[in-house]
Amino acid sequence: MKLLLVEDEKQLSEALTQLLIKNHYSVDAVLDGESGLDCALTGIYDLIVLDIMLPKINGLEILKELRANEISTPVILLTAKGETSDKVQGLDGGADDYLTKPFASEELLARIRALVRRKGEIIPDNVLTISDFRLNLDTYELEGDSGSVRLTLKEYEILKYFMYRPNRAVSKDDLIVKVWGFDSEAEYNNLEVYISFLRKKLLHVGTKATISTLRGIGYKMEE
Ligand code: CA
Repeated sequence: MKLLLVEDEKQLSEALTQLLIKNHYSVDAVLDGESGLDCALTGIYDLIVLDIMLPKINGLEILKELRANEISTPVILLTAKGETSDKVQGLDGGADDYLTKPFASEELLARIRALVRRKGEIIPDNVLTISDFRLNLDTYELEGDSGSVRLTLKEYEILKYFMYRPNRAVSKDDLIVKVWGFDSEAEYNNLEVYISFLRKKLLHVGTKATISTLRGIGYKMEE
């Protein structure tokens, strides 16, 4: 894990460098904005700790230049006490976090860990996609080209059942057993109500997929 530290207060820079090395980070420390920008533009760092008040080029300008060059390395800004407008400007300018001086070393380490984790996080693909719409299996969110809508549990289970069987006939009895269980009192009417909700929601998100009725059999979802 390679960090860039841009901080012109020599003592602070040395203390932070020691701290980071002790915590198994590899650190390049530079003392002015110009060298900071040159290093940062290489894009080789996993994270940049960037002071705002720097000689030659200030931290906010460095940040702006980085983002303009599409370098998305996470940045933690270091601000002096009371520079509220700098914080706002920094976060608006694409900083990921900031710390107000003086700060506890534990706090800096925690922020670094959080950002590095976020960057390297693997987001599990918990989204079922068919045709031109998606169903998020964690949030029950149905999403298409013209919008998204959250499904109720029953709607979700019914739609998921269809999505695993696109363009195939699905019997009403199978759906009822699947969604309500064997012993349920649910009747065709209940199912029909949910199917009509689902049709409205599919329409709402703008998919071309439809659930058609197969007389005497059940339904079929057509892509
Ligand atoms: Ca400074």
